[in-house]
Amino acid sequence: MPQSLTGGCQCGNVRYEVPAEMAAAAKCHCKECQKTTGAGALTAAVYPEGDVKVTGELKTYSYTADSGNVVTTNFCGNCGTKIFLSNPVAFTGLRLVLAGTLDDSSAVKPQFVVFAGGRPAWDGDDPSIPHFPGMPTG
Ligand SMILES: [Zn+2]
Ligand SMILES: [Zn+2]
Repeated sequence: MPQSLTGGCQCGNVRYEVPAEMAAAAKCHCKECQKTTGAGALTAAVYPEGDVKVTGELKTYSYTADSGNVVTTNFCGNCGTKIFLSNPVAFTGLRLVLAGTLDDSSAVKPQFVVFAGGRPAWDGDDPSIPHFPGMPTG
């Protein structure tokens, strides 16, 4: 098992390093998380703020989440990839790393799901539809 994990945005301007051991991992299906990711859920790896080492310039945007807490997102100003979230009320002193931005996210094992009732019906794996290993041709 590696000592640390690395990740970053799509264009490579922002890179980060975190310990392999995360404090927690969770999924959230609230509407704001769906907006911010464009996906059915936000999956986050949670770390103490000081454990996240960042290179490159992050932009910030803050919004009020469904919980009523103010959430701040950090993203790359060049390619727009959302990388981190912070929510000082619900996750004091912690930084949430958006799981998909890890170079290898296989270590992320969500322990709980919040706003579970918000999960859209399409956000799940339907084994009855075709699954291609890549983009099919023709
Ligand atoms: Zn970028
Ligand atoms: Zn959420």
